[in-house]
Amino acid sequence: MPMRDLSAGPRVLLKRLRELMAEPLEPQERLDRIVRQIASNMVAEVCSVYVLRSDGILELYATEGLNKDSVHLAQLKMGQGLVGTIAASAQPLNLSDAQSHPAFRYLPETGEEIYHSFLGVPILRAGRTLGVLVLQNKAQRNYREDEVEALETTAMVIAEMIATGELKKITQPGLELDLTRAISIEADGYNEGIGLGHVVLHEPRIVVTNLLNEDSDQEIARLVESIGSLRLSIDDMLSRREVSQEGEHREVLETYRMFAHDQGWVRRMEEAIRNGLTAEAAVEKVQSDTKARMMRLTDPYLRERMHDFDDLANRLLRQLTGFSGRAFGEDFPTDAIVFARAMGAAELLDYPRANLRGLVLEDGAVTSHVVIVARAMGIPVVGQAAGVVALAENGDSAIIDGDDGQVHLRPVADLLKAYEEKVRLRAKRQEQFRALRDVDPVTRDGQRISLMMNAGLLVDLPQLAESGADGIGLFRTELQFMIASTMPKLEEQEAFYRNVLRQAAGQPVTFRTLDIGGDKVVSYFRSQEEENPALGWRAIRLSLDRPGLLRTQLRALLRASAGSQLKMMLPMVTEVSEIRAVRELMQKEVQHLSKFGHQLPRKLQFGAMLEVPALMWQLDELMAEVDFVSIGSNDLFQFAMAVDRGNARVADRFDNLGKPFLRILRDIVRAGERNKTAVTLCGEMAGKPLAAMALIGIGFRSVSMAPTAIGPVKAMLLGLDAQALAVELNQALDDHTSTVSTRELLVAFANTHNIPV
Ligand code: PEP
Ligand code: MG
Repeated sequence: MPMRDLSAGPRVLLKRLRELMAEPLEPQERLDRIVRQIASNMVAEVCSVYVLRSDGILELYATEGLNKDSVHLAQLKMGQGLVGTIAASAQPLNLSDAQSHPAFRYLPETGEEIYHSFLGVPILRAGRTLGVLVLQNKAQRNYREDEVEALETTAMVIAEMIATGELKKITQPGLELDLTRAISIEADGYNEGIGLGHVVLHEPRIVVTNLLNEDSDQEIARLVESIGSLRLSIDDMLSRREVSQEGEHREVLETYRMFAHDQGWVRRMEEAIRNGLTAEAAVEKVQSDTKARMMRLTDPYLRERMHDFDDLANRLLRQLTGFSGRAFGEDFPTDAIVFARAMGAAELLDYPRANLRGLVLEDGAVTSHVVIVARAMGIPVVGQAAGVVALAENGDSAIIDGDDGQVHLRPVADLLKAYEEKVRLRAKRQEQFRALRDVDPVTRDGQRISLMMNAGLLVDLPQLAESGADGIGLFRTELQFMIASTMPKLEEQEAFYRNVLRQAAGQPVTFRTLDIGGDKVVSYFRSQEEENPALGWRAIRLSLDRPGLLRTQLRALLRASAGSQLKMMLPMVTEVSEIRAVRELMQKEVQHLSKFGHQLPRKLQFGAMLEVPALMWQLDELMAEVDFVSIGSNDLFQFAMAVDRGNARVADRFDNLGKPFLRILRDIVRAGERNKTAVTLCGEMAGKPLAAMALIGIGFRSVSMAPTAIGPVKAMLLGLDAQALAVELNQALDDHTSTVSTRELLVAFANTHNIPV
């Protein structure tokens, strides 16, 4: 007897299903014919489809073999009965005697008591369960492995039908399917603002539309070839010099390699191809199965590995479909809300800014650099939005609420309306802030406060005039380096700084020299993996060890400010000697330029950032050495309190308006007064009206913040009696016995004096 070709069955079935999908049928009719086709092809007496509704109920949508009257009536909750168990676990169930299974639940309306054997598989899409597909037979039998596989493959076709929205027409009025369910997620607000728009997944999910193959051997050959080049590319990445011997990066690549060589993975994909799928559909099927199972894991390490596996499968999909990266073409939404697990600052800068309405992160922390960049771009950000990426589909409507830290996916009409109202109110408030643009920032008791803005890109500069800021208090020069694909040359740097100064039109600009290293990654600059990058080889340390790099930047700054004034400062200074070392290099540059007849700046102001606590015990020496000091409160807080600013678990653990940090800041202001050295602060806290009020209370007369914060901070200080606050706040800070929190004191002060914070 000739061997039975196992692949013929599912292949014929898939071919029939493809024809059925193409026919102009009403959805119920199409589903009915699909289940009939599956039942007859797989020699089952029953074939049924249950679809997951948004209320967590699995509803019978079609059946061949069970009582037809029970369609749209028979229901099971998620986790209830065999069908609910399959949906909840995203695993198939293969039973020769269904009724003896402890989860079995008898639904009298279906008449299923006469069937003994049972095979059910989840209907999955991108790891999400959309429903359950079931076969039943009267005789007690165990379905073979290849039959389970075949049914899983068939379930993909039904998943496609659900995802296209076709079943909406036969969904009972008032109900909806889980896939289109409105979801609200509580997260953390990282940058205020509200965005209404459409989802753009940062790691695009490749939608495989070509599901069914014509020739299995040819598809297997395609798969094998793609896996071969995938393995080679991983080996290549691993052998590169910049991947050091240890560290997280290497660990991820090693995991990729392990998955890429996993025979089980390859075998499952080959099997899916033999069952009739194209190579890309097979990758997607196995990816979805694996993801659905792994999503239920609670171990954070294993969940992280799931992300690695997912990334790898996506790479393979990209190779097979020839997907060449994100296109910001015409179909890129004009109101994009970008959803990402995590993102680097440079990646955000790749997006067309005019189209961005918000950024949603599963990770991140409020002072991480991607968030700072988003703030500079003026877009709302929420972080710690757990699991949001898997729940969103490209193009879904969405609302991001950076004020309250919420994300709403596929919002219902009422919510959308409420938010439109909220946006209108906000716009009105913005209007009021804009009206303050030309009002001098003077407190009620006559203290002039200099309000500067932070910037780092040319696109930020129009905000200088729009916000009414007094100048740029922090220009993060590293951003130009982070968005470039190669190291910017002297001429490029010079042209860039010249452009900044031209656009600032005479307003002061404080350039900070390169602050790379740590989490500010510059792809073309090779550095070693570090165990504690924040404490590592970064900022001024790196600049002093690579004097060529620093001298080029100093030369570019000097040349760009020829004939006018240059104000610059150094990041992450730990000892005063570092400032002297940079001054020496600066001197060399000045001599060099004079020797070759270049015009020099008319005035040079040289400053240091105070970010490392060790400088607290060198304040007088420091101030003798510089023209001004600018406190980087993001880093100073991180180092003073020993909390990683990028780690949401600890970043907010201690209060930056608590006594310890306010005392630190006050000591610096007092040293400034003693030494007649200007002191300013340019970390994120300056942009929060309540914190800015506290800063004025302890003596600051100059602060620098994101441009969108200028209006709210100005509105605050116009109503503030700085002297009255200074008295109360200083008293509290000098009191070593009281346990009253300084934050509460500040809130109470603002309330009693009607100060908008
Ligand atoms: C800071 O540390 O407060 C600061 C302004 O610098 P950055 O956020 O760029 O590290
Ligand atoms: Mg810093």
